[in-house]
Amino acid sequence: MSFDAAKARADFPILHQEVHGKPLVYLDSAATAQKPRQVIDAVSRYYECDNANVHRAVYQLAERATRAYEDARAIVARHIGAADPREVVFVRGTTEAINLVAQSFGRVHVGEDDEILITGMEHHSNIVPWQLLCQEKGARLRVAPLDERGDVILEEYEKLLSPRTRLVAAVHVSNALGTVNPVETFIALARERNIPVLLDGAQALPHMPVDVGSLGCDFYAFSGHKVFAPMGIGVLWARAAHLEAMPPWQGGGEMIASVTFEKTTFNEVPYKFEAGTPDVAGAVGLGAALQYVEGLGLDAIAAHEAELLAYGSDLLTGLGGVELIGTARRKAGVLSFVLDGIHPHDVGTILDREGIAVRTGHHCAQPVMDRYGVPATVRASLGLYNTREDLDALARGLGVVREMFA
Ligand code: PLP
Repeated sequence: MSFDAAKARADFPILHQEVHGKPLVYLDSAATAQKPRQVIDAVSRYYECDNANVHRAVYQLAERATRAYEDARAIVARHIGAADPREVVFVRGTTEAINLVAQSFGRVHVGEDDEILITGMEHHSNIVPWQLLCQEKGARLRVAPLDERGDVILEEYEKLLSPRTRLVAAVHVSNALGTVNPVETFIALARERNIPVLLDGAQALPHMPVDVGSLGCDFYAFSGHKVFAPMGIGVLWARAAHLEAMPPWQGGGEMIASVTFEKTTFNEVPYKFEAGTPDVAGAVGLGAALQYVEGLGLDAIAAHEAELLAYGSDLLTGLGGVELIGTARRKAGVLSFVLDGIHPHDVGTILDREGIAVRTGHHCAQPVMDRYGVPATVRASLGLYNTREDLDALARGLGVVREMFA
């Protein structure tokens, strides 16, 4: 399937505006992706026609709301190749999904002197929940180091898989470097040792097909808002056997079967992990977003973005004085860089005056900045709606930055 970015772009109302009198160039999709009309309409339609609380009433609206919520779960399951919709737990986002695993699975399986292995390119949300667990249990966090380009050093990763490793938690695609990790290898090496693997897929879902069945991981976390759905909805996928064995982590309505003051029994999975009123409209929006990218074709989106990434890398390095941070063998969606002698925040502020939205800072991955000896980077990140013209505008904007500092 060939991909028409200009046509897709027309689906995103927010992109058609001016900022500081210049056409908006949105290059911050790794922070949050914009929403197509199809998603906005699905959420509006839900609120206009079906809104009610789910699973709790017999009237029409509640039945429709429940159906919409469960249909969204089925869409997610199919999209990521889950064996059963019961394996899809709706959460607020990647952060909450990882905390759920740490607080439920982690508390059961990690004890004193045990180890959890992560990589040197994790987002803070795949570091801090494990640090909290390690502190509580007297366990250790081990970190697979990165090479100069931004790839995990596989021999080091393998060496760090010890008899005490209780879990590997690794990012699928890095938000700070763009590295696409060889997660199939991570998983194969861990599984040989019966070590379960969690993947942080926040930056993978918008850019490539993901199939948890063929990956063979144990847990997969992602956020709706990065994949063109609303903020506030996300997914933890886990093998049903894990979910069934795991204790609940938050108590309240929805997650119970029966409650007395003496004893509570819990609902079946996935509801055992969905305490309280869920974000039904968010789930509906997520279903619409996944159907939207399926309609465009994920392979076609990936090919379009790969071409853009190559174009952007050549363009930026051709400018001179630009150092790309992250030149891994396989990359998706991210151009992180520093400009000789000019602080990234100054670059970002001047680009904003040119209508160009990029992110500057540590991108919630401070250890990555430390590894490459920079306090921050400028990050231009791509979505399916970006075009060569956006990257040309970025290059022109960097020319303006340079002139101001000349
Ligand atoms: N993991 C990665 C790789 C991310 O890029 C992000 C967000 O930037 C997260 C986790 C956290 O996602 P959220 O804030 O939606 O929970």
